[in-house]
Amino acid sequence: MGNDNSPAPPTDAELRERLTPLQYQVTREKGTERAFTGAYAHHKEAGVYRCVCCGADLFSSTTKYDSGSGWPSFWLPLAGENVRTHVDRSHGMVRTEVNCARCDAHLGHVFDDGPRPSGQRYCINSASLAFEPDHAHGEPGIEQDRRA
Ligand SMILES: [Zn+2]
Repeated sequence: MGNDNSPAPPTDAELRERLTPLQYQVTREKGTERAFTGAYAHHKEAGVYRCVCCGADLFSSTTKYDSGSGWPSFWLPLAGENVRTHVDRSHGMVRTEVNCARCDAHLGHVFDDGPRPSGQRYCINSASLAFEPDHAHGEPGIEQDRRA
């Protein structure tokens, strides 16, 4: 493909070393974390969710919503070109798999029962994501009232 500008995606050996077993299983072996167990299922801070493997910006807190599914849910990716989707016929179902466009990490699936305006529900594993809070980029004075 010859895209010289983007950094090379991490190698498999590097990811085995760096990721937790669950993160590796989800992103590289198309696993699924158990519902309601992921770190970001009910996470409400403002910021960006990056690919845990390669750091690509994938989702924003501004399009995250509570779908009740037990997995982080978004009605839109942060940038359409940063995720790739394709039909997944595994497990006797026809679903649309969502992958990181840069490193091909498995992220989750997208369904067409999401809220307006997109009508889409990106159902994503917390284990595929690394959250970066907004205040890392400024606005240090704002303290959010957070539940423990
Ligand atoms: Zn990635």
